[in-house]
Amino acid sequence: MSALSVSPLRFALSKGRIFDDTLPLLEAAGLVPSEHPSESRKLRIPSADGRVEFLIVRASDVPTYVQYGGADLGVVGKDVLNEHGGEGVLEPLDLGIARCKLMVAGPVDAAELPQRPRVATKFPKSARAHFAAAGRQVELVKLYGSMELAPLVGLADLIVDVVDTGSTLRANGLEPIEMIAPISARLIVNRPAMKVRHAELSAVISELAAACQLPESTQESSQTES
Ligand code: AMP
Repeated sequence: MSALSVSPLRFALSKGRIFDDTLPLLEAAGLVPSEHPSESRKLRIPSADGRVEFLIVRASDVPTYVQYGGADLGVVGKDVLNEHGGEGVLEPLDLGIARCKLMVAGPVDAAELPQRPRVATKFPKSARAHFAAAGRQVELVKLYGSMELAPLVGLADLIVDVVDTGSTLRANGLEPIEMIAPISARLIVNRPAMKVRHAELSAVISELAAACQLPESTQESSQTES
């Protein structure tokens, strides 16, 4: 066996919601992190059995780590994966966790929208594709967070953001207008790694598929649907 094939698989995860929701699936698959990232400053955390090494990265960086082989596999929200574009990664599993919706939202009782409304979003690619498909002209403004604030201060007429219960929207005087796409977390795998380390990666995919009790997707890659 070569040195490469005995090194642990690198598994990119982001702290917070994705980590917390993925943890029960990892545990069911026998891949238990030896430390919790919220209790550690380490960015590389081995699994208790040494089979994988978890890399703690920003949610929006997970597809990039997997695309370039910095990680062999990772878990990422479909919202983030659509923005990335899915280049160089396979998307073998919808884990069915971290479910939410990518939505257009705006102020409750808003006056009529201008001809070319300004739309604030962290997801410009998905937003552009959505409005273009509907033949609607918009001006997109990229923000990195607190999107709900933008219409309240006149920075934007609308927002495109992920919404779960809608309580953050309501708390800020906004309401959902239309859904762009349902979102859930996906397992993604580096394309070359899937060839070179096929047996190990297939085992992890099967274990996680069993853990979330879903049939393995036959989907070949994460071509975006937005
Ligand atoms: P965050 O931890 O907030 O960066 O979110 C990480 C991922 O969790 C996002 O990319 C989404 O796929 C998903 N997500 C974001 N907001 C929600 C939400 N309100 N409910 C469920 N999942 C969410």
